[in-house]
Amino acid sequence: MPDVEYMLFCCRDLEPQCGFRVQAKTTEETMEHARAHMASEHGMKEISRETETKMKEKIKPVKVEE
Ligand SMILES: [Zn+2]
Repeated sequence: MPDVEYMLFCCRDLEPQCGFRVQAKTTEETMEHARAHMASEHGMKEISRETETKMKEKIKPVKVEE
């Protein structure tokens, strides 16, 4: 079984109370989900460049068995 690499974002890294996790095949796709989550769950309608950079830093590759 080949492992597939996904980009994982754990909201906990920015919002310690939050258990949201999202993974997608590319960083950009993961960021889209993460941004939508930040807007709906954390009231961040506008995500500052600083926060965006922080989010991208937290995204890490994970191996998933398909
Ligand atoms: Zn969250």
